[in-house]
Amino acid sequence: MIIAIDGPSGSGKSSTAKRVAKALNFVYLDTGAMYRAVSVGVLRSGIAPENSEEVAEAVRHMTVLFRKGKVLLDGRDVTTAIREDAANKAVTPVSANPAVRKLLVEKQRAYARDHDVVMEGRDIGTVVFPDADYKFFLTAEIGVRAERRMKEAPDALSLEEVRDDLQRRDEYDASREHSPLKCAADAIVIDTTNMTLQQQTDKILSLIREPKNGGK
Ligand code: C5P
Repeated sequence: MIIAIDGPSGSGKSSTAKRVAKALNFVYLDTGAMYRAVSVGVLRSGIAPENSEEVAEAVRHMTVLFRKGKVLLDGRDVTTAIREDAANKAVTPVSANPAVRKLLVEKQRAYARDHDVVMEGRDIGTVVFPDADYKFFLTAEIGVRAERRMKEAPDALSLEEVRDDLQRRDEYDASREHSPLKCAADAIVIDTTNMTLQQQTDKILSLIREPKNGGK
């Protein structure tokens, strides 16, 4: 089974998707972390994130793995580095690169061949798995999203800086040519502005456990 959870940064996707996966005993895959990890790799190789050809060639040779809550890039732990401001900035052009998307989407699809998955990102319900069993699109007001992101940011940024960065990435993600952030027509939209993590998780679990067609 494939459960797709999409939405902008700070909408509660990651924390909710993790809990839903745990409750169902499914594999959890954070596709944003994959784009972030290869962006760190690009920066460390000294390649300009906007240089699409060099970026694509470098990413082709990178391996991203998730092990015990850690993100490994070519065997090195990049769990903290992928949340730093430099990665926040580089991930925008890197994830808009169609060749990079093609490479990572192939890996995301391969994961679901052997596992039941909860996969979260921007284009899971629209591009990666348009036939996913369940599609959810999480949203929340930008101020609330900025506060949530601030709690996990390793850099000492002000709320305003975090908010501006979110706004910049949202606008870019929604307007880019390849796989823009958009809600799939058949996704269930959940506004998490006034919801706790537990409420978001319970809502999704109840919709998944509800018999389809009213049980007929
Ligand atoms: O979800 P997160 O904020 O960690 O994602 C980081 C960036 O990766 C996003 O701003 C977006 O540009 C990109 N992304 C993407 N497609 C996905 C997941 C993330 O383009 N499926």
